[in-house]
Amino acid sequence: MKCPHCHKSIENNYLYPKDWNSYGYLSPLITCPKCNKDFLCKAFHEPAAEGVDKKWLNIGIPLKRALICTAIGAVCWGVIYYVSNPIISLSIKEFLALSSVYFLAFAIIYWMTVIRIKSGKEAKILLKLVQESEKRLQDESYARRLYNLGYKVPEKYLPKDLQ
Ligand SMILES: [Zn+2]
Repeated sequence: MKCPHCHKSIENNYLYPKDWNSYGYLSPLITCPKCNKDFLCKAFHEPAAEGVDKKWLNIGIPLKRALICTAIGAVCWGVIYYVSNPIISLSIKEFLALSSVYFLAFAIIYWMTVIRIKSGKEAKILLKLVQESEKRLQDESYARRLYNLGYKVPEKYLPKDLQ
């Protein structure tokens, strides 16, 4: 990513701190380490200001993907075991074996997402991210900096003079 002020590129380890999460729920306020000016990163969101996207708690899509990947992986294995050698060549079997490993690996990832949503763990993680976001926004100087960059800060977080 490049700083919009000085156009110098900013290293990833600066943009993605340890508490980085795949939801993109972290502070969108970036301070350029080279020119010290603030700017907004559109990939990051304050969930306390913008709300949590319901798709993270929707079981339908990961469940569908888990089932499809499991089915494809199973079909690949089925062909390897039940179709006799003269009909399909060894290289095709190798290809099927690799494909099934690939699809089953994805299936595991999707099944884990389904379990996380079902068990309420996903909701807990998101709640914690919202609480962290609230904490950031309750800091008046932080809310002011976001506001000055044109970010839609909810009124309850705005300092009195900006309301
Ligand atoms: Zn800069």
